[in-house]
Formats: sequence, structure tokens, C-alpha cells
Amino acid sequence: MKETEIAIAGGGPAGLIAAKTAAQKGKEVVLYESKEQIGVHEHCAGLLSIDGLERLKLKNLPSDIIQNSEVKGAKIYSPTGQTISVSKNKPTAFVVNRAKFNQFLFHEALDKGASIETSSRVIGIERVRESIVLKLGKKATSTNIKCKIAILAEGRFPKLNYEVNLPSPSKNSIVFSSMYIMKNVKDLDLEYVELYQDQKYAPGFFTWIIPIDENSAKVGLASSKVPASSYLNSFINKHPIASKKLTKAVIDRKMSGAIPLGSFIKKTYADNILIVGDAAGQTKPTTGGGVIFGGIAAGFAGEVASDAISAENYTSKYLSRYQKLWKQEFKLNLKVMRIVRSYIDTLTHKDLERLFLLLNKPHLKSKISETGDVDNQKTIVFNLLMSLRLWPILLSTGLKFILKK
Ligand SMILES: Cc1cc2nc3c(=O)[nH]c(=O)nc-3n(C[C@H](O)[C@H](O)[C@H](O)COP(=O)(O)OP(=O)(O)OC[C@H]3O[C@@H](n4cnc5c(N)ncnc54)[C@H](O)[C@@H]3O)c2cc1C
Repeated sequence: MKETEIAIAGGGPAGLIAAKTAAQKGKEVVLYESKEQIGVHEHCAGLLSIDGLERLKLKNLPSDIIQNSEVKGAKIYSPTGQTISVSKNKPTAFVVNRAKFNQFLFHEALDKGASIETSSRVIGIERVRESIVLKLGKKATSTNIKCKIAILAEGRFPKLNYEVNLPSPSKNSIVFSSMYIMKNVKDLDLEYVELYQDQKYAPGFFTWIIPIDENSAKVGLASSKVPASSYLNSFINKHPIASKKLTKAVIDRKMSGAIPLGSFIKKTYADNILIVGDAAGQTKPTTGGGVIFGGIAAGFAGEVASDAISAENYTSKYLSRYQKLWKQEFKLNLKVMRIVRSYIDTLTHKDLERLFLLLNKPHLKSKISETGDVDNQKTIVFNLLMSLRLWPILLSTGLKFILKK
């Protein structure tokens, strides 16, 4: 039977970053990806914070991956069209081509010495004494692989977590997404992404227009109800503000996907096993972004797996350091974001309008602009909670939220 030190199931950003990190430390790594090629499918808006990319040592991405490097902030629209604009005085996020971004990570992992096998689905996992055996699907070059540590990075609908008695992200909090790349979009501002908070068009989430250049954009939404594409078509054709920009626009490409918003699973390690990325629910419940946090966790997983190989210790106790590391880094943020997401979901349109009216006051708006950070959302939430002006609405809507829980 084929053997390796570390085997990885899944060649999305989390699996690839884990592979790169462990290979960089001189370990023998084989990554299996079920699709025929890595970096072809683009089921993602590719909006990534520059600070997050820096944290992943990916700030200097090749220019052909970056579609828009000017995003400084967001314009957020209420159901009746009230707008809150928040921004920094320098770019805070890149819009990237996610297919090319994955290709880049693929080549980085290869360059560091990882071996990557495509058309190779991991269909089963079994613990055999001190090792793990992964069973591979028909199209793979071998049938089984034995390893000391398996890193599971299957994305939003993991099947292997269950086989090793570890939890999967809650299915109840998955939202379904539809996104179009559109050309001939009117009135785009490269410095702002537009977010439309309206349950009528995107129940359980929001709609976005992310500019790629002066006349093309990624227009998408996620929704707890299906089909997401009908909601998106309705947004494009009927939304009072967005339709003016979009009705004459042309769809260049369509994509769809799902996002787990329920936040992280309780246990992400076991003897010989680590779970990373969407498969571990390391996705932000407020925005659905998963590349940065999943990538940071994957870096930790690659490091801990590599240290475990050096120490010849593959026990759950040794591997638990992985969970400590990622929790130290962003657990509190995920918890705060989960509460914010559940709170927003309980707001009526009337509550939202009241909230927008208050948040639009100059001193609150500047507080949001100053402390707002898409990865570190806890700081802005704590800051806003300190604002006495928001207390009347927070008390009334907060009570409703607590009673619903
Ligand atoms: C419409 C949409 C827009 C988004 N926009 C953003 C955004 O702007 N910014 C952001 O940060 N995040 C965004 N996200 C979320 C982001 O795409 C995910 O969080 C991220 O891709 C998760 O990475 P991952 O490696 O964990 O999983 P994935 O990217 O899903 O990769 C998992 C890989 O594993 C493979 N696989 C699965 N099972 C197996 C198996 N058993 N054996 C072998 N291979 C397997 C799959 O083929 C896949 O390639 C968006 C998501 C959607 C759906």
C-alpha cells in the first residue's frame, strides 16, 4: 500500500495552505482533490482583506490574480434605500479571481514539495493501529493510502468528519448562493462594494455588488431559501436602486455555491486527524467569508501536523494544540459574528430602518469607519455597544432576539 506522512483530503485554499505549510517544513505530503483540475471552478466572490492576506503571507499576489485593488469600504443599503457609506483612507481589500487564486496556492504547495493528485476523491477513512488509511475513488491512481496524519479539508459538505466521529457544520445554518459576473453595469465605484440588506431579496443574508472594473462586477446573494438564482434575478430586475445599474447589464458567467454560517464545530482534532476550513465551519457568520480564517487555521494545521511527525506523536492530546492556536486567533470573533448574524435575522424591516437611521449619525459612522474591520468584527461590535444612542433600539430588538432564542 502507498504510504506518506501527511495526507490531505480536499484541494481548496484550506487544504492547499495546509499542504504548503507542512511540505515547507520538510514533511512528506500528498493532497487528494476530487476534481480533475485545481483552480477551474470559481464559486466565490473573492473579496479578501489585505490584512488577512498579509497574515497568510499572500499580500504580494501576482497582478493577474487581483481584479480590483482599490476597495476602501462599503456602501450598505437598507430596504428603503437609506445608505451608510463606511471606508478607510487606503485600500482594505482585494477582489481576486478565485480560480487563479487557487491555482497560485496549488503551485506554491507543489514548489514546497507537496505531491498533489487530482481526480482523486477520498471515499473513506479508517484508523488502523497507529495510522490512518484513506480509501480513494475509482479514478485515483491507487486505491488506498496509509498516513500518520490526515487533514480533512473537504469544504462545506464534508463526509469524512462523521466517519472519524467528529462533528460537521450545522446543516440548518447553510445558505445557498447564486452569483453572476456581469458586464455593462452602470455607476460602479471601484472603491466601494455595495451590500443590500433586504430580506425580500435575500432571506437570511444579503446581496452584493462587487466591482471588478469600471463596468463589470460580481453580483450575488446568499439565501436561506431556494432557488437562490430566482432571488438574484428578482434583485437584478426589481430592486429599486440596483435594477437601475443592472437591468441593461449582461451576464458573462453564472456560479453557485453554499456557505455554512453556523460557525465553527466544537472539536477539530482526534487521534491522527485534523479538520480545517469550511469543513470545520471556520467561516464568518456575518459575511460568509472563509478564505482568510480557514487559511490561518490551515497554516496552524500544517505546522502542528509537521511537529507531530517530528515528535512521532499523533495522539489527540498532541494534536489539540491546533485547536488552541486557531481558537486563540479568531474564536471570539466567530462567536461575536454568530450572535450578530442571529440578531440581524430577527430584525424586521422597521427595526432595520431605525437602526440605519441611528448608524447614519456622523459620530457613529466615523466610529464604524475607524474601527470597522471585516476580519476583526468584535471591536466594532463592542464599540457600538458602548454607544448610548443605540441603547433604546438595542434594548427593544435585543429583548425580541433573546425571547426568540
Ligand atoms: C458564492 C460564494 C461567495 C463567496 N465569497 C467569499 C469571499 O468573497 N471571501 C471569502 O473569504 N470567502 C468567500 N466565500 C467562502 C469561500 O469560498 C470558502 O470559505 C472557501 O472556499 C473554503 O475553502 P476550503 O478549502 O475550506 O473549501 P473549498 O474551497 O470548498 O475546497 C474544498 C475542496 O475539496 C474537494 N473535495 C471535497 N471532498 C473531497 C474528498 N472527499 N476527496 C477529495 N477532494 C474533496 C472539493 O472538490 C474542493 O475543491 C464564498 C462562498 C460562496 C459560495
